[in-house]
Amino acid sequence: MLEIKDLYFRYSGRSPMVLQGTDLTLQDGEIGVLLGRNGSGKTTLFKNILGIRKPERGEIRFDGEDLLRMSRRERARRIAYVPQNIQFGALSVYDTVMMGRISYFGFRSGKEDEEAVERILQDMQLQDFAARNVEELSGGERQKIAIARALAQEPRMLVFDEPTGNLDIANEQLILSEARRVAREKGISILTSLHDFNQALELGDRFFFIKEGRICHTGGAETVTEEVIREVFDAEVKIMDVEGQKIVSIRHS
Ligand code: ADP
Repeated sequence: MLEIKDLYFRYSGRSPMVLQGTDLTLQDGEIGVLLGRNGSGKTTLFKNILGIRKPERGEIRFDGEDLLRMSRRERARRIAYVPQNIQFGALSVYDTVMMGRISYFGFRSGKEDEEAVERILQDMQLQDFAARNVEELSGGERQKIAIARALAQEPRMLVFDEPTGNLDIANEQLILSEARRVAREKGISILTSLHDFNQALELGDRFFFIKEGRICHTGGAETVTEEVIREVFDAEVKIMDVEGQKIVSIRHS
């Protein structure tokens, strides 16, 4: 379980607070979606969770353990980051996924690492890609490799920053279903940001609306309402129910 309590962060002593008392709890195996305008602090929150930035005050705990005091290696075994674009130069898919094992083997990989990578490639039906150069792959395939590499860390939680940002609709579907499968089959929790409310509703179990560095509304799909979207995004939308699924439609005036 990830627990964030009363987190405050600013980029430098003279700049304003970007996170201002952020509170967030995510249970094991749950998919949490952060929803907020550009500049509301989503990426900054991820950076704090991943240990790339240190908060001024507040707590970040994982299963009760203080993430802020953990070494990089200890943290990597709990939380893995899935970047939007993996840039690893001209590495093969196999070697790219093996990079995810670094927190286990340090400098030299062993049999266990090879087995772990092979297991993941097989599980994600990527065996045929193993020898391919990552740079030759499509955006959706590269994103799938980024997930595979993060899974090689054997983390308990994945953090995705806008996972579908640069993808076409077929690849979007591929990545959303892969994310869902990872959470459901492996019990790995996921914290992600998404711009598209319908993708968010399709993927998320819990929704965290963030405004000016504070989570202002949290809950299940019932939390996603026209009023909350108006308040947080300053935007007018219409929400409909289609076969039991909420659909958010953007109103153009
Ligand atoms: P989001 O991911 O929700 O779009 P960010 O976390 O990227 O928002 O940004 C939140 C605020 O922090 C913005 O006002 C942004 O300008 C500021 N910010 C982001 N990165 C930096 C940085 N490296 N240095 C100073 N300010 C930053």
